Amino acid sequence: MYRDERNSTKESFLIDLAAMKCLVKGMLGFCMLIAAIGCSSPDAQEIITATAPQSDSSKATAVALQSQEEPKDTTSAMITKDDLLGNVNPQSDERFVKMAAAHSSGAMFLRKETNEAFAKMHEAAKADGISLKVISATRPFAHQKRIWEGKWTGARKSNGRNLAALNLPPVERALDILQWSSMPGTSRHHWGTDIDINDLNNSYFEETDKGKKEYAWLTAHAAEYGFCQPYSPKTNEAGDTIRTGYNEEKWHWSYRPISDAYTLRYKEMLSNADITGFKGSETAEQIDVVNNYVLGIRGGCSH
Ligand SMILES: [Zn+2]
Repeated sequence: MYRDERNSTKESFLIDLAAMKCLVKGMLGFCMLIAAIGCSSPDAQEIITATAPQSDSSKATAVALQSQEEPKDTTSAMITKDDLLGNVNPQSDERFVKMAAAHSSGAMFLRKETNEAFAKMHEAAKADGISLKVISATRPFAHQKRIWEGKWTGARKSNGRNLAALNLPPVERALDILQWSSMPGTSRHHWGTDIDINDLNNSYFEETDKGKKEYAWLTAHAAEYGFCQPYSPKTNEAGDTIRTGYNEEKWHWSYRPISDAYTLRYKEMLSNADITGFKGSETAEQIDVVNNYVLGIRGGCSH
């Protein structure tokens, strides 16, 4: 039947379709060739071309070519589900390194590239009379679970309150904790790319002379070293909501050359059903924690 009903328009459409398929196949072949010679993943390329100047294509090509020399494990395709969920052991994982004692308060670990970039930023800040110290770095799933369940059970206060004693419905209880703490499996601190600097209170950076100078230095220079502030203000000057998720955190900085790839991979690979293994995890779905919190970032950290 179909064959008999064909008309010339359909025929030409089919020819066009065949030509398109051929073109796609050709492109695919080209991509495979690029992959075979060790090209980085499409996501990494996307980041690179997106950040390269649009008007200068030769520069963009140069940047893209340069990316082929980057370590492969920083590309999106090399990041596993366990990496994203914080099922890592920074002490034995060769991608991580212990931070210098002068840069951190206590024994802390970061991805090697993050650590290197922070060391450079630390030196530059020091030369300007600014002291930057990391007070929290990589926190694996088990660590975040202790923080979360402490607040969930009331052993630890959340916003100054014992949530268990208040008998709140589960979603309300989770939302209260989520103002300042991540659900296990959703924290950027799992990745070895994110750090908390100097103090865990916005008031320190807004009201003390020392904190104000440090924050002004970071907002002026952190990007030069690859760092951005993912949890920026949630409203603009007009009072409109511009992002979802955690409250502003002036102390939390992310090493974008790696964390961008983690964020993209999270979006591709994980759903709320993967957020499990702790008290209150059943609320992840209702809150849509992946879209509203993990991906609710801005402040120079968004794509
Ligand atoms: Zn943090």
